[in-house]
Amino acid sequence: MKHFDCVIIGTGPAGQKAAIQAAKLGKSVAIIEKNNVLGGAQINTGTIPSKALREAALHLTGASKRGLFGESYRVKKNITIADLISVSQRVIRHEWEVIRDQFERNRVELIWGEGHFEGPNLVQISRADETEMITGDKFLLGVGTRPATPSHVPFNDYNILSSDSLLNLESLPRTMIVVGGGVIGVEYACIMATLGVRVTLVEGRQQVLGFLDQEIAEAFQYFMRQSGITLRLGEKVDKISEVEDHNGTVHKLVQAQLESGKTLKAETLLYCVGRQGVCGQLGLDNVGIEYDDRERLHVNENYQTNVGHIYAAGDVIGFPALASTSMEQGRRAICHAFGLETSKFNNVFPFGIYAVPEISMVGQTEEQLTEEGVPYEAGVASYKEIARGQILGDELGMLKLLIHQDNKKLLGVHAIGTGATELIHIGQAVMALGGTAEFFVDNVFNFPTLAECYKVAAYNGLNKLAHV
Ligand SMILES: Cc1cc2nc3c(=O)[nH]c(=O)nc-3n(C[C@H](O)[C@H](O)[C@H](O)COP(=O)(O)OP(=O)(O)OC[C@H]3O[C@@H](n4cnc5c(N)ncnc54)[C@H](O)[C@@H]3O)c2cc1C
Repeated sequence: MKHFDCVIIGTGPAGQKAAIQAAKLGKSVAIIEKNNVLGGAQINTGTIPSKALREAALHLTGASKRGLFGESYRVKKNITIADLISVSQRVIRHEWEVIRDQFERNRVELIWGEGHFEGPNLVQISRADETEMITGDKFLLGVGTRPATPSHVPFNDYNILSSDSLLNLESLPRTMIVVGGGVIGVEYACIMATLGVRVTLVEGRQQVLGFLDQEIAEAFQYFMRQSGITLRLGEKVDKISEVEDHNGTVHKLVQAQLESGKTLKAETLLYCVGRQGVCGQLGLDNVGIEYDDRERLHVNENYQTNVGHIYAAGDVIGFPALASTSMEQGRRAICHAFGLETSKFNNVFPFGIYAVPEISMVGQTEEQLTEEGVPYEAGVASYKEIARGQILGDELGMLKLLIHQDNKKLLGVHAIGTGATELIHIGQAVMALGGTAEFFVDNVFNFPTLAECYKVAAYNGLNKLAHV
């Protein structure tokens, strides 16, 4: 039986970075994957496919350039699913190669099969026709999550879809109901609307993306409506069913009955409410690790479960459940497991929402600061007053800085528009280093760039403060 210093279950971002970190520390490492492809949700069903689809949709429809060339600008008529999927497949195949190459270069042993604990240091790996046992000193669980599929939703993989099965659509529908106004729901609603699908989005709360700064969320909702998305906010879906439409020829539609009595019908329905862990199949009872009712694990600040040599990272430990944070959690967990000190994980991490337009934020919102009684001022820059914004034809974008009234420290940065998810990192760096809004006034920025927004927003905020 083979023995490893470190055994990792799952090749998503948490598992990948954990494996490489352990290998860099000179440890013998095995990584187990039950799927027949590498990379978990990040590469195969989540981050990469949705971002590649978005990019393809924006490019092929010409939507990203309409601010420059006019509303009728099109790159390709009659866009097919094949056009869209070919872009994401190319990226996905490349990513598989990158991961495999990293494992090989770092001598990480990749073992295909489903991992199951038989004892505190013993894992059985099951494949179609055989099993294998390995032992390890330290373990990391990076097993991720899957879309929640509650029993009252009759998923069928052709017109009642989860975010996983959406990727297998054979043709673009004319209409779609999206249930859930979280990140996944709004991203897909925007991608579909860009492709010309008539989308109705149903969200139980009065605002999509409840964690956003309200001003940004309101601007975003305005953009969504402008692009033809119907928002049904403060509405809950009571029943979802397939119905026949006898409009000339018979074809199947999906009907969503709302608690308010409204009935929605569309060719497809995408259900994006929540994710569910997969810990039930890991044999955790054999080692004494408990999981919650959504099969997620509780860990301490070092990512240890209640069994000290077994760590967990990524979506399986819950919030914030991002590829970006999962990678860092996996790396930090392994550093702790093998006694390598790391700096404290500060909570200044960004959120990126790849909707149309992009949204990103770091730090606190106006609502949080008000609730906590922190005195602040907001400084705002619109892309339309920035040369680069004009060149890009983005008249809608904006950047907002939240500045402490007394010490001028940066408390939050909120951006919506082209490049928002990249732009945010400038603010993140300044915040993480304890910087003030004066940094932006006192320093030179490349011209013309969207980064110039920081300077304009800082002037705006500091000028307001000068008059307080
Ligand atoms: C539609 C969508 C869009 C997203 N967009 C973004 C984004 O833009 N930015 C961002 O940062 N995040 C995004 N995310 C979130 C991101 O994909 C996840 O946070 C990330 O993939 C979680 O990584 P992980 O390593 O925890 O798990 P996963 O990526 O889910 O990987 C877990 C792996 O473990 C394997 N596994 C599970 N159980 C076993 C077992 N018993 N034995 C062997 N292998 C096992 C699975 O097969 C899988 O390969 C998105 C998610 C979705 C669904």
